[in-house]
Amino acid sequence: MRYCRFYLDRDAHYGLVESFAGKEAITRVLLTAPEEGDGELEDLPSKRMDPTALETARLLAPVRPSKIVCVGRNYREHAAELGHELPAEPLLFLKPTSSLLGPGENIRRPKISQRTDYEGELGVVIGKTCYKLSPEDDVRAYILGYTCINDFTARDLQNKDGQWSRAKGFDTFCPAGPVVTDEIDPWAGVPVVTKVNGEVRQSGNTREFIFPLDVIIRHIAEVMTLHPGDLIATGTPQGVGPVVAGDVVEITVDGAGTLRNPIVDE
Ligand code: ZN
Repeated sequence: MRYCRFYLDRDAHYGLVESFAGKEAITRVLLTAPEEGDGELEDLPSKRMDPTALETARLLAPVRPSKIVCVGRNYREHAAELGHELPAEPLLFLKPTSSLLGPGENIRRPKISQRTDYEGELGVVIGKTCYKLSPEDDVRAYILGYTCINDFTARDLQNKDGQWSRAKGFDTFCPAGPVVTDEIDPWAGVPVVTKVNGEVRQSGNTREFIFPLDVIIRHIAEVMTLHPGDLIATGTPQGVGPVVAGDVVEITVDGAGTLRNPIVDE
């Protein structure tokens, strides 16, 4: 199942996304927020609506996390391109929820940064409360679905500050969406592609993860309770680079749609 979050009149709702007349369309309004279910998407109550093409709907980020947990350096070639050693365990950092941005909305480059980079990533949405998993726990049962994330970064401030809260935390620095899907399998391999102005800049596959999702989620849940709706950014493939005002970044996770955001100066 796939869902989005969108405005219907003036109110934000979650909506079921299906192929309709050859296009991706919102066909039903969900009556329960997906993160408030029991971790299964199939049983959510919904009601019919006039199908609305996803591309013409006013979309929001399809998540309402209590926190956004990110993994740095989870692809070999990306660690190499930044001149880093391969990490021995997942490197974690947080982005504030105030950095979330919907599909189609503008990413604002702050004046105090001279270099802002896109980072296309697979996003994981948590479906069930998750803390200190035992070895026999199946991590998949705690995952609601997957989406696209742009872990937008002020690279110069990241290097200058030594830690990353400011560089990764500006408002608009966490575009997410357009949909959440439970129909893909990152363990089997899912392509993650980033384009700038239509040109491919990153082309990775979740098969190339240094740490697979079960290792990442167990590692995070040793530290903090993951709540339903929490969002995990799983790291970016090689090919990160700067963008400037007027550029358009598109991140595609196969099966989770394309997340498109223009860049503007603040
Ligand atoms: Zn990242």
